[in-house]
Amino acid sequence: KKYFGYNSFRGKQEEIIRNILAYKDTFVIMPTGAGKSLCYQLPAILVQGTALVISPLIALMKNQVDQLQALGIEAGFLNSSMTRHEYEEVKNKTLAGILKLLYVAPETLAREDFIEFLRLIRLSFVAVDEAHCISEWGHDFRPEYRKIRPILNQVSEKVPIIALTATATPKVQQDIQKNLQIENSCVFKTSFNRSNLYYEVRHKINPIHDIVKYIKQNPNKSGIVYCLSRKKVEELAEIFNVNDIKAVPYHAGLDSETRSQHQDMFLNEEIQVVVATIAFGMGIDKPDVRFVIHYDVPKSIESYYQETGRAGRDGLEGHCILYYSFNDIVKLEKFMKDKPLSEREAARHLLYEMAAFCESGICRRKHLLHYFGEHYDESHCTNMCDNCRHPKEKFEATTPVLHVLKCVQELDGKFGTNYVVSVLRGSNGQQIKEQFHDKLETFGVGKEFEEKEWKAIINQLIIRDFLIKDINDYGVIKLSPQGKAFLAKPYSIELVRYQNFEKIEKEQLSSSPAEEARPYDVVLYEKLRKKRNEVAQAHKLPPYIIFQEASLEDMATKYPITLEEFENIVGVGAGKARKFAAPFIEIIKQHVEENEIERSVNCIVKTRGKSSPDKLFIIQQIDRKTPLDEIAQLRGLSYEDVLEKVEQIIFSGAKLNIAYYVNQVVDIDKQKKIYEYFCEAETDSIDLALEVLGSDFTREEVQLTRALFYSEKAN
Ligand code: ADP
Ligand code: ZN
Repeated sequence: KKYFGYNSFRGKQEEIIRNILAYKDTFVIMPTGAGKSLCYQLPAILVQGTALVISPLIALMKNQVDQLQALGIEAGFLNSSMTRHEYEEVKNKTLAGILKLLYVAPETLAREDFIEFLRLIRLSFVAVDEAHCISEWGHDFRPEYRKIRPILNQVSEKVPIIALTATATPKVQQDIQKNLQIENSCVFKTSFNRSNLYYEVRHKINPIHDIVKYIKQNPNKSGIVYCLSRKKVEELAEIFNVNDIKAVPYHAGLDSETRSQHQDMFLNEEIQVVVATIAFGMGIDKPDVRFVIHYDVPKSIESYYQETGRAGRDGLEGHCILYYSFNDIVKLEKFMKDKPLSEREAARHLLYEMAAFCESGICRRKHLLHYFGEHYDESHCTNMCDNCRHPKEKFEATTPVLHVLKCVQELDGKFGTNYVVSVLRGSNGQQIKEQFHDKLETFGVGKEFEEKEWKAIINQLIIRDFLIKDINDYGVIKLSPQGKAFLAKPYSIELVRYQNFEKIEKEQLSSSPAEEARPYDVVLYEKLRKKRNEVAQAHKLPPYIIFQEASLEDMATKYPITLEEFENIVGVGAGKARKFAAPFIEIIKQHVEENEIERSVNCIVKTRGKSSPDKLFIIQQIDRKTPLDEIAQLRGLSYEDVLEKVEQIIFSGAKLNIAYYVNQVVDIDKQKKIYEYFCEAETDSIDLALEVLGSDFTREEVQLTRALFYSEKAN
């Protein structure tokens, strides 16, 4: 209360602190936000000497020390970002026995002079924060973390250690204990269940459309959208903004000023959404994030848990949606191919655990918590995950379960899932023959299921505790007591049927053809055409200048009834829509009502134009009246490319003031003739124009003048 202002301990804090005060090794595993820091900060104040805190992030280190100093606690840090003077000052304070907490980065710890220094001071205990960085099996492996124990051994044998982490699978937990040599430490673990979060996995079909729609349906809620690549982050942020969703990008490629600016905008609710790579979130404490969307599959279940964990920190609503496609797993695997073998194996393993989670039909919460070594009864989920809310098809599985368990028993619990499946399916692999496993009773009894179906069955048996996956020897599966009991006395059991994600995706994709491919509404098309010709006559312009056929077809397909929707029609931009849309929207509205047409596109998502950086550049340069050939040179494009892009920009409805350039390269008389031609022409074909105008005219001249004509008359 005196230092921290709290009236009581939270969860297991008191037990943990007492354990440290008794100078015992301590291992704390609690989810983010549970209050781990107090567990070492408070005892550090109470005991003699200085506590050494090892922490991986220099930025967070300063933050923590500032906070402690504000509370009147003597704390300091040493890292590579300091001046020599600052460094010496902190050292002297420690030597004088004033500092209660000294934070260091692992790199600093390994320095020879620092080890010398440690020998001179009185250490109370060592706190290893973010201890999962020790393990290759964790999601944030840092090799320097593995040197902590050897270094401490050089200094003092007996200094007690407290290790803290928010992400510990049993495997990581063992790694940490082994590496720090604290196998006999007391372990304090609280549940990782986040009962207020709703977990959902969706097929990655049309994800952008889906996400924009979701965000628009939740206009007052803050959220984070995670992507794996910086490029995707930028792209999504742009698409959101085009669709009137206030969003900013966040990734390590942005300078730190922009990053902290974007972070503040999110915290202050100036924007609704952050689109981010995993670089975003460390140390972020916004309590009312209402949704976390994964556009890409995370690389591990731990990352997924960490990232979704940023939703609903205040205990209220938090919606977690993940877009999954098996293709993404394959892609990620390809990216790993340059890593060293052992690292690659570990990463692959984590990735496949993630895939299994996505494809699983059982309670997401049960699956997640099982991964963290917790038993969870799914009846407590109360429909807070997609699989509980919409249960997947189940089947009577007594016989296949018996086959699996018997096979594992026959293999003496010495093989992994893949091998068990090979035996069940009667594969004639060499190893199976050599080991005489083709003589087993269960050899080839399970040909009725495909490999993936068997794997799904085995996964469910692991999560439901019939089988145990040996974490020391990963992949190896053994019978649990429950599995043995089932073998001895089988009973009826139901499992979720395997869902072939790849197949479902393909089917859904082929059954919902691209919008363009759908036949358009011929009746509406004719009405629109008639209107267009009227409008053209009134303006004394050729019809194609108003709207081209392709635009009319698109209207007769998408039925746009707002200006916003209208702008998204092929060949229509904001300028064109403002100028001509009104009577067309009227016709469409009426047509939709009269015929009770259900518009399939209930949310039209605008995409950003392709290769938009080039176009943006061209628009800016034209604003400055840079000649087009010079623009081409500046941008490293061919002149034809620039011409084509200028036309695209103009055809999509923008006004581009290119007169300065056209006047420069096309003779005024020629311009007039071309203008006259296009005013009369049936189509805007360049070839036809060249034929009629004759060989005095070059393609470039016709093209440029036509573009000017469009820009002035149509947009
Ligand atoms: P962790 O390191 O586990 O993510 P922190 O140590 O940052 O969590 O604590 C999370 C929040 O809980 C902080 O705002 C902290 O001030 C608060 N907190 C910690 N212990 C207590 C307590 N005993 N009573 C009230 N609030 C606490
Ligand atoms: Zn559930």
